[in-house]
Amino acid sequence: MAKRDYYEILGVDKGADAATIKKAYRKTAIKYHPDKNPDDKGAEEKFKEAAEAYEVLSDQDKRARYDRFGHAGVSGNGFGGAGGASMEDIMEQFGDMFGGGAFDTFFGGSGGRRRRGGGGTRGTNLRIKVSLSLEEIAKGTTKKIKVKKQVKCSTCGGSGAKDSGSVSTCGTCSGSGYVRQVRSTFLGQMQTTTACPTCGGNGQVVTAKCTTCKGDGTNYEEKLIEIEIPAGVEEGMQLSMRGNGNAGQNGGPAGDLLINIQEKPHDTLKRDGANVIYDLYLNFADAAIGTTVEVPTIEGKVKIKIPAGTQSGKIFRLKGKGLPVVQSYQQGDQLIHVSVWTPKKLTAKEKQLLEKLRDMPNFNPQPGKSDKGFFEKMKDYFNA
Ligand SMILES: [Zn+2]
Ligand SMILES: [Zn+2]
Repeated sequence: MAKRDYYEILGVDKGADAATIKKAYRKTAIKYHPDKNPDDKGAEEKFKEAAEAYEVLSDQDKRARYDRFGHAGVSGNGFGGAGGASMEDIMEQFGDMFGGGAFDTFFGGSGGRRRRGGGGTRGTNLRIKVSLSLEEIAKGTTKKIKVKKQVKCSTCGGSGAKDSGSVSTCGTCSGSGYVRQVRSTFLGQMQTTTACPTCGGNGQVVTAKCTTCKGDGTNYEEKLIEIEIPAGVEEGMQLSMRGNGNAGQNGGPAGDLLINIQEKPHDTLKRDGANVIYDLYLNFADAAIGTTVEVPTIEGKVKIKIPAGTQSGKIFRLKGKGLPVVQSYQQGDQLIHVSVWTPKKLTAKEKQLLEKLRDMPNFNPQPGKSDKGFFEKMKDYFNA
Protein backbone atom coordinates (compact mmCIF):
# COMPACT_ATOMS: atom_id res chain seq x y z
CA MET A 1 0.00 0.00 0.00
CA ALA A 2 1.33 3.42 -0.95
CA LYS A 3 1.99 5.61 2.02
CA ARG A 4 0.15 8.88 2.39
CA ASP A 5 2.01 12.13 2.61
CA TYR A 6 2.92 12.92 6.24
CA TYR A 7 1.88 16.58 5.94
CA GLU A 8 -1.43 15.51 4.48
CA ILE A 9 -2.01 13.01 7.31
CA LEU A 10 -1.62 15.73 9.92
CA GLY A 11 -3.34 18.33 7.73
CA VAL A 12 -0.51 20.88 7.89
CA ASP A 13 1.43 22.92 5.30
CA LYS A 14 4.92 21.95 4.19
CA GLY A 15 6.25 25.01 6.01
CA ALA A 16 4.45 24.35 9.32
CA ASP A 17 6.49 24.99 12.45
CA ALA A 18 7.06 22.49 15.28
CA ALA A 19 4.25 23.87 17.47
CA THR A 20 1.73 23.65 14.63
CA ILE A 21 2.76 20.08 13.88
CA LYS A 22 2.46 19.08 17.52
CA LYS A 23 -0.96 20.69 17.76
CA ALA A 24 -2.10 18.98 14.57
CA TYR A 25 -0.86 15.61 15.81
CA ARG A 26 -2.68 16.03 19.09
CA LYS A 27 -5.89 16.86 17.28
CA THR A 28 -5.59 13.94 14.86
CA ALA A 29 -4.58 11.48 17.54
CA ILE A 30 -7.45 12.46 19.81
CA LYS A 31 -9.87 12.09 16.93
CA TYR A 32 -8.73 8.56 16.16
CA HIS A 33 -7.74 7.52 19.66
CA PRO A 34 -8.74 3.88 20.38
CA ASP A 35 -10.51 4.93 23.58
CA LYS A 36 -12.83 7.04 21.51
CA ASN A 37 -13.18 4.52 18.67
CA PRO A 38 -13.34 1.11 20.30
CA ASP A 39 -13.06 -1.82 17.88
CA ASP A 40 -12.64 0.46 14.89
CA LYS A 41 -9.75 -0.89 12.82
CA GLY A 42 -9.89 2.07 10.44
CA ALA A 43 -9.47 4.55 13.27
CA GLU A 44 -6.65 2.49 14.75
CA GLU A 45 -4.81 2.60 11.40
CA LYS A 46 -5.25 6.38 11.23
CA PHE A 47 -4.04 6.71 14.82
CA LYS A 48 -0.89 4.75 13.97
CA GLU A 49 -0.44 6.68 10.74
CA ALA A 50 -0.59 9.98 12.62
CA ALA A 51 1.97 8.75 15.16
CA GLU A 52 4.30 7.76 12.35
CA ALA A 53 3.87 11.10 10.58
CA TYR A 54 4.55 12.94 13.82
CA GLU A 55 7.61 10.86 14.56
CA VAL A 56 9.18 12.01 11.32
CA LEU A 57 7.96 15.60 11.15
CA SER A 58 8.82 16.39 14.77
CA ASP A 59 12.46 15.42 14.21
CA GLN A 60 14.39 18.07 12.30
CA ASP A 61 16.81 15.63 10.76
CA LYS A 62 14.17 13.11 9.69
CA ARG A 63 11.92 15.85 8.42
CA ALA A 64 14.72 17.24 6.20
CA ARG A 65 15.38 13.78 4.76
CA TYR A 66 11.66 13.24 4.20
CA ASP A 67 11.36 16.61 2.42
CA ARG A 68 14.22 15.67 0.10
CA PHE A 69 13.69 11.99 -0.55
CA GLY A 70 10.10 11.31 0.47
CA HIS A 71 9.21 8.08 2.31
CA ALA A 72 12.38 6.41 1.04
CA GLY A 73 14.43 8.91 3.05
CA VAL A 74 12.99 7.76 6.33
CA SER A 75 12.17 4.10 5.72
CA GLY A 76 13.22 1.76 8.43
CA ASN A 77 11.97 4.22 11.00
CA GLY A 78 8.72 4.47 12.79
CA PHE A 79 5.69 2.33 13.18
CA GLY A 80 4.62 1.94 9.59
CA GLY A 81 6.46 -1.18 8.58
CA ALA A 82 6.23 -4.69 9.83
CA GLY A 83 7.51 -5.15 13.36
CA GLY A 84 6.92 -1.49 14.18
CA ALA A 85 5.88 -0.16 17.52
CA SER A 86 2.78 -1.64 19.08
CA MET A 87 -0.37 0.28 19.96
CA GLU A 88 0.76 0.07 23.58
CA ASP A 89 4.00 1.89 22.76
CA ILE A 90 2.21 4.63 20.89
CA MET A 91 -0.34 5.09 23.64
CA GLU A 92 2.41 5.24 26.23
CA GLN A 93 4.26 7.92 24.27
CA PHE A 94 1.09 9.77 23.57
CA GLY A 95 0.09 9.69 27.22
CA ASP A 96 3.49 10.99 28.28
CA MET A 97 3.37 13.71 25.69
CA PHE A 98 0.09 15.24 26.70
CA GLY A 99 -0.07 14.27 30.36
CA GLY A 100 -1.43 11.05 31.76
CA GLY A 101 -4.79 12.43 32.76
CA ALA A 102 -5.59 13.86 29.34
CA PHE A 103 -7.78 11.01 28.23
CA ASP A 104 -9.70 10.62 31.42
CA THR A 105 -10.74 14.22 31.02
CA PHE A 106 -11.33 14.00 27.31
CA PHE A 107 -13.33 10.84 27.19
CA GLY A 108 -15.01 10.82 30.53
CA GLY A 109 -12.71 8.34 32.18
CA SER A 110 -11.50 5.48 30.11
CA GLY A 111 -10.52 3.42 33.11
CA GLY A 112 -7.71 0.92 33.03
CA ARG A 113 -4.92 3.37 32.47
CA ARG A 114 -3.17 4.48 35.59
CA ARG A 115 -3.49 8.10 36.52
CA ARG A 116 -0.23 9.77 37.33
CA GLY A 117 0.40 12.11 40.19
CA GLY A 118 -1.96 13.66 42.66
CA GLY A 119 -4.59 10.97 42.88
CA GLY A 120 -2.65 8.39 44.86
CA THR A 121 -2.86 4.69 44.20
CA ARG A 122 -6.16 2.89 43.99
CA GLY A 123 -6.60 0.04 46.44
CA THR A 124 -6.60 -3.50 45.10
CA ASN A 125 -9.80 -5.47 44.49
CA LEU A 126 -10.84 -8.17 46.90
CA ARG A 127 -12.45 -11.38 45.74
CA ILE A 128 -14.73 -13.56 47.82
CA LYS A 129 -16.96 -16.52 47.09
CA VAL A 130 -20.54 -16.75 48.28
CA SER A 131 -22.34 -20.08 48.30
CA LEU A 132 -26.12 -19.92 47.94
CA SER A 133 -28.94 -22.41 48.23
CA LEU A 134 -31.63 -22.61 45.56
CA GLU A 135 -34.08 -21.09 48.06
CA GLU A 136 -31.77 -18.08 48.58
CA ILE A 137 -31.35 -17.66 44.83
CA ALA A 138 -35.13 -17.77 44.35
CA LYS A 139 -35.84 -14.91 46.73
CA GLY A 140 -32.60 -12.97 46.75
CA THR A 141 -30.82 -12.59 50.05
CA THR A 142 -28.56 -10.47 52.21
CA LYS A 143 -25.35 -12.11 53.36
CA LYS A 144 -23.20 -10.82 56.16
CA ILE A 145 -19.65 -11.85 55.50
CA LYS A 146 -16.46 -11.21 57.40
CA VAL A 147 -13.76 -9.92 55.07
CA LYS A 148 -10.16 -9.31 56.06
CA LYS A 149 -9.05 -6.21 54.21
CA GLN A 150 -6.87 -3.14 54.26
CA VAL A 151 -8.73 -0.21 55.74
CA LYS A 152 -7.70 3.38 56.16
CA CYS A 153 -5.79 3.79 59.44
CA SER A 154 -8.13 5.41 61.93
CA THR A 155 -5.28 6.86 63.99
CA CYS A 156 -3.74 8.97 61.23
CA GLY A 157 -6.67 9.10 58.82
CA GLY A 158 -4.58 7.41 56.14
CA SER A 159 -1.78 9.97 56.03
CA GLY A 160 0.73 7.65 57.71
CA ALA A 161 1.97 10.58 59.82
CA LYS A 162 2.29 10.58 63.61
CA ASP A 163 0.50 13.93 63.89
CA SER A 164 -0.13 17.11 61.91
CA GLY A 165 3.35 18.40 62.83
CA SER A 166 5.11 15.42 61.30
CA VAL A 167 4.21 16.25 57.71
CA SER A 168 6.23 18.57 55.52
CA THR A 169 6.13 19.72 51.92
CA CYS A 170 8.03 17.41 49.59
CA GLY A 171 11.35 18.93 48.54
CA THR A 172 11.57 17.03 45.26
CA CYS A 173 8.37 18.37 43.73
CA SER A 174 7.86 21.41 46.00
CA GLY A 175 4.45 20.07 46.93
CA SER A 176 2.98 19.72 43.44
CA GLY A 177 3.13 15.92 43.41
CA TYR A 178 4.47 15.98 39.85
CA VAL A 179 7.92 15.97 38.36
CA ARG A 180 8.64 17.02 34.81
CA GLN A 181 11.40 15.49 32.77
CA VAL A 182 12.57 16.00 29.24
CA ARG A 183 13.50 12.74 27.64
CA SER A 184 14.41 11.52 24.20
CA THR A 185 11.99 9.02 22.78
CA PHE A 186 11.39 7.70 19.29
CA LEU A 187 8.79 10.41 18.90
CA GLY A 188 11.49 13.01 19.46
CA GLN A 189 12.13 15.16 22.53
CA MET A 190 9.32 14.81 25.02
CA GLN A 191 8.38 16.48 28.20
CA THR A 192 6.91 13.94 30.53
CA THR A 193 4.98 14.52 33.71
CA THR A 194 5.01 11.74 36.24
CA ALA A 195 4.11 11.27 39.87
CA CYS A 196 6.87 12.47 42.17
CA PRO A 197 8.95 9.45 43.16
CA THR A 198 9.71 10.89 46.61
CA CYS A 199 6.17 11.56 47.84
CA GLY A 200 4.26 9.25 45.52
CA GLY A 201 2.25 12.16 44.17
CA ASN A 202 0.68 13.67 47.25
CA GLY A 203 3.14 16.55 47.61
CA GLN A 204 3.96 15.86 51.22
CA VAL A 205 6.43 13.70 53.06
CA VAL A 206 6.03 12.20 56.50
CA THR A 207 8.82 13.00 58.96
CA ALA A 208 7.50 10.85 61.82
CA LYS A 209 5.42 7.78 61.11
CA CYS A 210 2.09 6.88 62.69
CA THR A 211 2.74 4.14 65.24
CA THR A 212 -0.49 2.27 64.53
CA CYS A 213 0.03 1.68 60.80
CA LYS A 214 3.82 2.21 60.77
CA GLY A 215 3.42 4.84 58.07
CA ASP A 216 1.43 2.72 55.61
CA GLY A 217 -1.78 4.66 56.18
CA THR A 218 -3.70 1.40 56.19
CA ASN A 219 -4.22 -1.51 58.58
CA TYR A 220 -5.56 -5.02 58.09
CA GLU A 221 -8.90 -5.43 59.73
CA GLU A 222 -11.72 -7.90 59.69
CA LYS A 223 -14.87 -6.13 58.53
CA LEU A 224 -18.42 -7.40 58.49
CA ILE A 225 -19.85 -6.58 55.09
CA GLU A 226 -23.50 -6.82 54.15
CA ILE A 227 -23.92 -8.07 50.64
CA GLU A 228 -27.24 -7.70 48.86
CA ILE A 229 -27.70 -10.56 46.43
CA PRO A 230 -30.46 -10.11 43.86
CA ALA A 231 -32.82 -12.98 43.06
CA GLY A 232 -31.98 -15.24 40.12
CA VAL A 233 -28.16 -15.12 40.24
CA GLU A 234 -26.25 -18.04 38.76
CA GLU A 235 -23.13 -20.05 39.41
CA GLY A 236 -20.11 -18.15 38.08
CA MET A 237 -21.74 -14.71 38.11
CA GLN A 238 -19.70 -11.90 39.58
CA LEU A 239 -21.19 -9.07 41.57
CA SER A 240 -19.16 -6.03 42.40
CA MET A 241 -19.39 -3.63 45.31
CA ARG A 242 -17.58 -0.45 44.43
CA GLY A 243 -15.18 0.90 47.00
CA ASN A 244 -15.48 -2.10 49.32
CA GLY A 245 -12.08 -3.54 48.44
CA ASN A 246 -8.73 -2.60 49.96
CA ALA A 247 -8.14 1.03 50.92
CA GLY A 248 -6.08 3.14 48.52
CA GLN A 249 -2.67 4.62 49.22
CA ASN A 250 -1.87 8.35 49.42
CA GLY A 251 -5.51 9.33 49.23
CA GLY A 252 -6.33 7.06 46.31
CA PRO A 253 -9.78 5.45 46.11
CA ALA A 254 -10.50 2.01 47.56
CA GLY A 255 -10.68 -1.02 45.28
CA ASP A 256 -13.82 -3.03 44.70
CA LEU A 257 -15.16 -6.10 46.40
CA LEU A 258 -15.87 -8.77 43.79
CA ILE A 259 -18.31 -11.46 44.80
CA ASN A 260 -18.25 -14.76 42.98
CA ILE A 261 -21.53 -16.68 43.10
CA GLN A 262 -21.56 -20.40 43.76
CA GLU A 263 -24.62 -22.64 43.95
CA LYS A 264 -25.06 -25.23 46.65
CA PRO A 265 -26.49 -28.44 45.25
CA HIS A 266 -30.11 -29.06 46.26
CA ASP A 267 -31.26 -32.38 47.70
CA THR A 268 -34.06 -33.00 45.23
CA LEU A 269 -34.21 -30.17 42.69
CA LYS A 270 -31.92 -29.37 39.79
CA ARG A 271 -31.57 -26.02 38.11
CA ASP A 272 -31.82 -25.53 34.36
CA GLY A 273 -31.49 -21.80 33.72
CA ALA A 274 -34.62 -20.24 35.20
CA ASN A 275 -36.39 -23.59 35.32
CA VAL A 276 -36.21 -26.08 38.13
CA ILE A 277 -36.33 -29.78 37.37
CA TYR A 278 -37.64 -32.55 39.58
CA ASP A 279 -37.28 -36.21 38.64
CA LEU A 280 -40.44 -38.06 39.66
CA TYR A 281 -40.38 -41.86 39.74
CA LEU A 282 -43.80 -43.52 39.60
CA ASN A 283 -44.48 -47.13 40.25
CA PHE A 284 -46.06 -48.93 37.36
CA ALA A 285 -49.48 -49.31 39.04
CA ASP A 286 -49.71 -45.59 39.89
CA ALA A 287 -48.76 -44.63 36.35
CA ALA A 288 -51.41 -46.98 34.94
CA ILE A 289 -54.26 -46.27 37.40
CA GLY A 290 -53.50 -42.62 38.16
CA THR A 291 -52.81 -41.10 41.57
CA THR A 292 -51.98 -37.94 43.49
CA VAL A 293 -48.35 -37.40 44.54
CA GLU A 294 -46.53 -34.82 46.59
CA VAL A 295 -43.55 -33.15 44.94
CA PRO A 296 -41.05 -30.72 46.44
CA THR A 297 -40.75 -27.19 45.03
CA ILE A 298 -38.58 -24.28 46.10
CA GLU A 299 -41.51 -22.97 48.14
CA GLY A 300 -42.38 -26.29 49.77
CA LYS A 301 -44.34 -29.38 48.86
CA VAL A 302 -47.27 -29.32 46.43
CA LYS A 303 -49.68 -32.05 45.40
CA ILE A 304 -50.08 -32.92 41.76
CA LYS A 305 -52.52 -35.24 40.00
CA ILE A 306 -51.09 -38.01 37.88
CA PRO A 307 -53.64 -39.00 35.25
CA ALA A 308 -54.24 -42.65 34.41
CA GLY A 309 -52.02 -43.94 31.61
CA THR A 310 -49.07 -41.59 32.29
CA GLN A 311 -46.04 -42.64 30.27
CA SER A 312 -42.38 -42.50 31.15
CA GLY A 313 -40.87 -39.28 29.78
CA LYS A 314 -44.00 -37.21 30.45
CA ILE A 315 -43.18 -33.69 31.63
CA PHE A 316 -45.56 -31.83 33.94
CA ARG A 317 -45.10 -28.08 34.19
CA LEU A 318 -45.76 -26.03 37.32
CA LYS A 319 -45.99 -22.54 35.91
CA GLY A 320 -44.04 -19.85 37.74
CA LYS A 321 -42.56 -22.26 40.28
CA GLY A 322 -39.05 -21.83 38.91
CA LEU A 323 -36.52 -19.08 39.51
CA PRO A 324 -36.67 -15.40 38.60
CA VAL A 325 -34.36 -14.19 35.87
CA VAL A 326 -31.90 -11.73 37.38
CA GLN A 327 -32.92 -8.10 36.83
CA SER A 328 -36.07 -8.92 34.91
CA TYR A 329 -39.71 -9.78 35.56
CA GLN A 330 -39.36 -13.19 33.98
CA GLN A 331 -39.96 -16.25 36.09
CA GLY A 332 -39.11 -19.83 35.26
CA ASP A 333 -41.24 -22.95 35.78
CA GLN A 334 -40.79 -26.18 37.62
CA LEU A 335 -40.69 -29.15 35.28
CA ILE A 336 -41.54 -32.59 36.58
CA HIS A 337 -39.89 -35.32 34.55
CA VAL A 338 -41.73 -38.61 34.95
CA SER A 339 -39.99 -41.95 34.92
CA VAL A 340 -41.97 -45.12 35.42
CA TRP A 341 -40.02 -47.35 37.74
CA THR A 342 -39.24 -50.79 36.50
CA PRO A 343 -38.54 -53.20 39.39
CA LYS A 344 -34.91 -54.28 39.46
CA LYS A 345 -35.56 -57.46 41.44
CA LEU A 346 -38.71 -59.46 42.12
CA THR A 347 -39.90 -61.92 44.73
CA ALA A 348 -41.40 -65.17 43.52
CA LYS A 349 -44.88 -63.85 44.24
CA GLU A 350 -44.32 -60.58 42.37
CA LYS A 351 -42.97 -62.51 39.46
CA GLN A 352 -46.01 -64.74 39.43
CA LEU A 353 -48.36 -61.75 39.37
CA LEU A 354 -46.45 -60.06 36.57
CA GLU A 355 -46.43 -63.22 34.53
CA LYS A 356 -50.20 -63.25 34.72
CA LEU A 357 -50.33 -59.64 33.55
CA ARG A 358 -47.77 -60.11 30.82
CA ASP A 359 -50.15 -61.72 28.35
CA MET A 360 -53.09 -59.41 28.93
CA PRO A 361 -53.90 -57.35 25.85
CA ASN A 362 -53.55 -53.86 27.42
CA PHE A 363 -50.13 -54.61 28.87
CA ASN A 364 -48.46 -54.69 25.53
CA PRO A 365 -47.33 -51.45 23.90
CA GLN A 366 -49.68 -49.99 21.37
CA PRO A 367 -48.20 -46.56 20.84
CA GLY A 368 -50.55 -44.05 19.26
CA LYS A 369 -49.90 -40.58 17.88
CA SER A 370 -49.78 -38.94 21.31
CA ASP A 371 -47.45 -41.54 22.80
CA LYS A 372 -44.09 -40.19 21.82
CA GLY A 373 -40.92 -41.95 22.84
CA PHE A 374 -38.54 -40.38 25.34
CA PHE A 375 -36.26 -38.77 22.76
CA GLU A 376 -39.21 -37.27 20.86
CA LYS A 377 -40.43 -35.77 24.11
CA MET A 378 -37.02 -34.33 24.91
CA LYS A 379 -37.01 -32.67 21.51
CA ASP A 380 -40.35 -31.05 22.35
CA TYR A 381 -38.96 -29.96 25.69
CA PHE A 382 -35.95 -28.25 24.21
CA ASN A 383 -38.03 -26.60 21.50
CA ALA A 384 -40.62 -25.35 23.97
ZN1 LIG B 1 7.06 15.06 45.86
ZN1 LIG C 1 -1.78 5.38 60.80
